[in-house]
Amino acid sequence: MQRAQFGVEDAAQVLKSAGLRVTQQRLAVLMLLYQTPRHCTVEELYELLRQTTPAISLATLYNTMKAFVDAGIAQELPFGDGPSRYDVNTEPHHHLVCDECGEMIDITLPDPALTSAAQAHDFHIRSFHIEVRGVCAACAAKRERETFKR
Ligand SMILES: [Zn+2]
Ligand SMILES: [Zn+2]
Repeated sequence: MQRAQFGVEDAAQVLKSAGLRVTQQRLAVLMLLYQTPRHCTVEELYELLRQTTPAISLATLYNTMKAFVDAGIAQELPFGDGPSRYDVNTEPHHHLVCDECGEMIDITLPDPALTSAAQAHDFHIRSFHIEVRGVCAACAAKRERETFKR
């Protein structure tokens, strides 16, 4: 689904099929999650939401995210020592993480090497997540400009 076109009807549909009650606040949170390219922390979502949904409290937002994760419509990504980030892409995927701006880019990888390595130990993989740290293209370009200026 095109994220930019994810509207209120789509949000209501996702909530209903996940067995969640449809509320104005849940609709607002879900639409924001789909429309924001970043993988936001609850605090970041709160800042963004306050512009459109002033009535929501931080506690409500934490509860909402927990309900979304429990219902399987978002996944919680532990993020080092920092607060978790939330992702509405619930397909198995991995992340490129920029050390400078915190941007997380979704990637999918073929994993035959990992699968056969696990099979050699009769190990059944339930899930795995690869977090690749580095510098994104935008930050690399910014660095280059700053170096050039000096
Ligand atoms: Zn960056
Ligand atoms: Zn992701």
